[in-house]
Parts: sequence; structure tokens; C-alpha cells
Amino acid sequence: MGFDLHVHTTASDGLFTPAQVINEALRLGLTGVAITDHDTTDGIEEALAEVRRLALGDRFLVIPGIELNTEGGEREIHILGYFIDWHHPRLLQRLGEVLEARGKRVINMVEKLNHLGIKVSVEEVRQEAKGEVIGRPHVAQVLIKNGYVSSVKEAFERYIGRNGPAYVPRYKFEPSEAIQLIKEAGGVPVLAHPGLIGDDGLTRKLIHLGVKGLEVYYPEHSKADERRYLAMAEEYGLIVTGGSDFHGDPNNRAAWLGSVAVDGKVVKDLGQRSKPKEGFLSFM
Ligand code: AMP
Ligand code: ZN
Ligand code: FE
Ligand code: FE
Repeated sequence: MGFDLHVHTTASDGLFTPAQVINEALRLGLTGVAITDHDTTDGIEEALAEVRRLALGDRFLVIPGIELNTEGGEREIHILGYFIDWHHPRLLQRLGEVLEARGKRVINMVEKLNHLGIKVSVEEVRQEAKGEVIGRPHVAQVLIKNGYVSSVKEAFERYIGRNGPAYVPRYKFEPSEAIQLIKEAGGVPVLAHPGLIGDDGLTRKLIHLGVKGLEVYYPEHSKADERRYLAMAEEYGLIVTGGSDFHGDPNNRAAWLGSVAVDGKVVKDLGQRSKPKEGFLSFM
């Protein structure tokens, strides 16, 4: 069944705890997963602990990863990092700064919403964000619960999307810094879902910043996207990766865990490009 290299947990905005992700992966017959939470490495330890608790030994691999949310011009650019040292001091320091800025941003968003006559509290949003990385999806959930909108999509369109009246921009984090930071932490930077960027010129510029891989296989990529990005990966000598972007949403079966998986060769290539960390390479 292979490896799903793009998975979120409750440490960011996923609905499954890291331990639940591991158990679901086993149920589905996967050989491993990369835990790639947005802007946090907090889920990794629990995932590794679950693998130990189940005494899986070398039969299941947890790849320590991350998905850094950055901004390239007007667009949201996501940089995946694989085989990172999740205790790396500078990585953790920068993530701490991003997290703090996110907390302040939610306060600003709630203020804007309150000015629009919408009853939402910071506390409600914090409770919605069970994990740490608080953001607009949580604000959207509270807007639904409080009866102001009927879907996340509507929340973005009417209030918190880029052109909405309660929009507050995120802390500016550049793709180039994300790529550097992942490398500093011993990991391999990969450009996530280029199809969602929707601008191949920009994708090429991002590749030039030094990513080592391209997420070619992704639930929302069409066959034509796959072909184009496969060719682009070959052109630049990039590792071809893929993953489901699993968030645990029962209504999104196309992005269920393992719906996109890659084989061990890809994992091996990623591992070889990372700074060696004990235990991981011996798995392959
Ligand atoms: P944040 O990092 O707090 O700005 O939230 C960004 C996240 O919100 C993205 O990763 C998406 O999951 C979600 N999102 C962004 N735009 C939309 C949209 N138009 N509809 C639904 N979800 C969205
Ligand atoms: Zn997410
Ligand atoms: Fe993403
Ligand atoms: Fe993701």
C-alpha cells in the first residue's frame, strides 16, 4: 500500500490524534506516514510513541515532517519538510513566533467580526482549535456553530477570505526562509500541491529557491496536472512525492488517509537527501 506523505493531526487542524492516524494507517495497510502538520512538530512525538506502544518495530515508519504555510506574493505557498529534526532549536523558535502571531491575529479577526455585529469570542475559537495552530478554519467553524454561515466556504466568502471584511493577513513567512529552515533542521524541502498554486511560472520560481521535491500526486490534481508536474520534476531533477493531505474529514473521502500513496523508493530518496538521523534509514 505504501506511504502517505501528507497527513495532518489534531496538533494542527486535523480531526484525528496522531495515535488515531497511526491506527487508521495500520487498518488501511499502509507501511508508513509522514506527519506534516501546519507550522508545528507537536504531533510527531505522539505518533512515534504509538508505533512504539504497538511494538511495530520496523514494520511501520513515521517520517517526522512539517508543512510550513508561507506567502509568495498574493498566494499561499505550502512547503513540506521531511525527515526534519523536530527538536531543532531555531526551527522551534521560529515556529513559536509564528504561533504567537497567529494568536494575536485571531484576536484581531474576532474584533473585526464583533464590529460587524457578529457574536464570536476568542475563547470559542481557542476551544475550536484543540491543537495549537489556531487559524481561519477554526473561526469558520465557530461561525457555523453560531449560525452565521452554513459552511466553511461561506465563512470564507462572506467574512474571513482574502477579500472579506474580517480578513486579517497572516504573519509574513517567505517560502525561501521556510526552505532554508527545513534544510537547517536536517530535512528535505518539498513544494506542496503545485496545482493549488495555479501558476506554473511561480512554481518554477519556487523550485529555483531550492526545494528538492515536488508533490506531484495529490487528490486535487488532475491527470493533466500530474503529467505536467511529473515532467517538471524530471526537468529539475526533483524527487516526485505524493500524499492525501488527510485532515480526517469524513465528507472528503478523496483525501482520506492513503488515498494517495507513494512507494518505498520515494521515502528512501528523501531519507538519503536528509541529514542522517538514527533509526530512520535503517528502516528501508
Ligand atoms: P490560515 O492559515 O489561518 O490563514 O487558514 C488557511 C487555511 O484555511 C487553509 O489552509 C485552508 O485549509 C483554509 N481555507 C483557505 N481558504 C479557504 C476557502 N476559500 N474555503 C475554505 N477553506 C479555506
Ligand atoms: Zn490543514
Ligand atoms: Fe497545504
Ligand atoms: Fe496539508
